[in-house]
Amino acid sequence: MNPKLFEKIEMPGVRHVIVVASGKGGVGKSTIAANLAVSLARQGYKIALVDADLYGPSIPIMFGVQDAQLTGTIKGDREMLLPIEKFGVKLLSIGFLLAPGQSLIWRGPMASNGLTQLFRDTDWGETDYMIVDFPPGTGDIQITTVQKLNLAGAIIVTTPQELAISDARKAAGMFANPDLNVPILGIVENMSWFSPARHPEEKYFIFGKGGGEKIASEFNTRLLGQIPIVLEIGEVCDQGKTIYNLPDQNIIEAFDSISHQISELLKVKK
Ligand code: ADP
Repeated sequence: MNPKLFEKIEMPGVRHVIVVASGKGGVGKSTIAANLAVSLARQGYKIALVDADLYGPSIPIMFGVQDAQLTGTIKGDREMLLPIEKFGVKLLSIGFLLAPGQSLIWRGPMASNGLTQLFRDTDWGETDYMIVDFPPGTGDIQITTVQKLNLAGAIIVTTPQELAISDARKAAGMFANPDLNVPILGIVENMSWFSPARHPEEKYFIFGKGGGEKIASEFNTRLLGQIPIVLEIGEVCDQGKTIYNLPDQNIIEAFDSISHQISELLKVKK
């Protein structure tokens, strides 16, 4: 495959595009992408979040904007979508392009065109970092989308289980492939351990230990952070709130540390 065959999507005003990817669904990729976007916005950056997860667009619910009506604008001779704004983040989801209750049955080129449209036909204004909640896996749609985007890097989310690590390795391998050559900014290990509320000092490594670190070293990159299993993370995100609504400062610090490392790695002047 010749990557030069793919025309890059132009997004004037967008400085860095970062994809948050995973080998398989259910590892917390959307949770990490959404809260990382909010964390970067709280640092004062201009942030966009694109929910490109064809198989399970969950950002509208996580931001409580599932009923939002998209509006458009005319730029030159083009009609463009305007993102929805919440928590200081400009949002657009593949879910907004579907009628309520409609499930996504697009295949191949249709899916890839739908994604292209989401990026290209939206007026993103000035954006320092665009975070993309990427569809899990390493299929044709993912490869085509990577080829069409000018990516600053990828963040790989995994849980510590052997099976999740083996899928994450495939995802990391796709970005690192010389044809695509996307820098892997780092690994986020999610659901790393569980601490009982009454014994917060105790850690139970339910899904195993060391997987995130291992894959980071295999790809010569860094473990950006480890997020424990905290039931309230799921609860707040399902209610259209963020981890900043949690009383647990450790969780907030873990997300802020990841977003600081990203902004240090890519250095954008606010
Ligand atoms: P993905 O995007 O990889 O499919 P999601 O972000 O949708 O995964 O997360 C899957 C489920 O796990 C959601 O219900 C989410 O709220 C929950 N979840 C994610 N991370 C955590 C965590 N660290 N602790 C507890 N629940 C989590």
